[in-house]
Amino acid sequence: MCPEGSERVQSAFYQEYIKSPEWEEKKRQRMEIDGFRCVMCGRSIDHCRTMQVHHVTYRNLGHEDVMRDLCTVCGSCHKKLHNYYDRERGD
Ligand SMILES: [Zn+2]
Ligand SMILES: [Zn+2]
Repeated sequence: MCPEGSERVQSAFYQEYIKSPEWEEKKRQRMEIDGFRCVMCGRSIDHCRTMQVHHVTYRNLGHEDVMRDLCTVCGSCHKKLHNYYDRERGD
């Protein structure tokens, strides 16, 4: 989920998928696994209202492995993450 529009995958499917109840459920599961904390800076969801779930990989988009393909991050770490990857990978 990237409200800033910084995700690399901008397909119509992705746009629809992030609004689906299936994705909401996966997000909830992943946040629960991470204890509602950002895995990068450790801030809890109480301190950061913009908690997001990042796709470690888009390989399984639509049928993600909640344990391996996703991680919980706060808004600012999510931005950093994408700045980094967008620069380093260029894909
Ligand atoms: Zn963070
Ligand atoms: Zn992301």
